[in-house]
Amino acid sequence: MNKTGGPIPFLDLITPHMELEKEIIESVREALMGGRFIGGSAVEGFEREFAAYTGAKHAIGVGSGTDALRFALMAADLKEGDTVLTVPNSFIATTEAITQAGLKIDFVDVDAKTCNMAPEKLEEYLENRCVYKNGSPVSRKTGTRVSAVIPVHLYGQMAQMDEISEISSRSNLVVIEDACQAHGAQYFSKKHNMWEKAGAIGFAGAFSFYPGKNLGACGEAGAVTTNSDEAADKIRMLRDHGQSKKYYHEIEGFNGRLDAIQASILKIKLRLLPAWTVSRRSRASLYNELLSGIESVVTPYEPEWSKAVYHLYVIRAKNRGALQKSLAAVNIATALHYPVPLHLQRAYSHFGYAEGSFPSAEKAAVEILSLPMFPGLTDEQVGRVSAAIRDSISL
Ligand SMILES: *Cc1c(COP(=O)(O)O)cnc(C)c1O
Repeated sequence: MNKTGGPIPFLDLITPHMELEKEIIESVREALMGGRFIGGSAVEGFEREFAAYTGAKHAIGVGSGTDALRFALMAADLKEGDTVLTVPNSFIATTEAITQAGLKIDFVDVDAKTCNMAPEKLEEYLENRCVYKNGSPVSRKTGTRVSAVIPVHLYGQMAQMDEISEISSRSNLVVIEDACQAHGAQYFSKKHNMWEKAGAIGFAGAFSFYPGKNLGACGEAGAVTTNSDEAADKIRMLRDHGQSKKYYHEIEGFNGRLDAIQASILKIKLRLLPAWTVSRRSRASLYNELLSGIESVVTPYEPEWSKAVYHLYVIRAKNRGALQKSLAAVNIATALHYPVPLHLQRAYSHFGYAEGSFPSAEKAAVEILSLPMFPGLTDEQVGRVSAAIRDSISL
């Protein structure tokens, strides 16, 4: 039981800023005194450092992770109305971006263990649910050409990128990584015989710096990473009203810029991200150890080809509802990512998907439980959460 200490929060957005307080205030003061709030050297500096961190050639700062996904899709030169495949167990921003880029959404199911896109389900979709016209897959469901796929690196663990890239290239699909939960996550590519980082593998990667993400701004922010010079130029225009220079609009764009204050705060926090990741991974292995052997609890599956960054630490429990209640009763905060798969959301009822359409994603939705996870979570707190789970289950 959680008798000894106080409540255990789900995440802590205060402590990490305390040690950085002076630096952050100083960077805000510099922006104020310089009168430079949009663009400029703070944004360019952060973009350079974030690109280097991910290993991608370019990083383009934008207003949010949703902007990043939308601009990445718009830079991919897809045809209006084309179909983009993704998974049903993501945050709705993934699919919002598809619609907002003028494209159609369809889903493929996830792997039962990793909860990430199952390569064989992607292959099955392209082989059995499409007809081929001039060598391109046309979805029977949406009636349009399938031209891109968005694997989501859910909870901070990367999808199987070798397989997804290989299947996609056979059908000419553009691959865009939703890396909004996966800053610094690594994947061992057998094809390239090396560890690769999220955002550096596909045509583009989309990152969110929403405050609760592994690298979070003190407001809204995001970035697109890409190795393509052309895509980088197009995204720079898209985020800034389609301007190539002030008041010369090559295309119609958006207001989707990263502001200078957020960029300078992100630059300060990026320095600490590697240490925070080490800490998250150590919190995860302590949970794994303390929760092992509980029959009705499954700890996260991390294959040998993955170095997950544990944006979330998500267990599977048969009696999830009861477990969540008993943790709440001893002041331990938990959450569900996500309680309703996208294909069963009211917003998408017009797709006509029934329950049973994507069994692995649906099964996950009723079993998942996200436990407290943040870099400053103490051994004692992990111990108390784990003990409370054991207590609840032995009741
Ligand atoms: C957070 C998140 C987004 C959206 O990012 P915002 O910055 O909130 O727009 C997209 N996809 C996933 C998987 C996310 O977790």
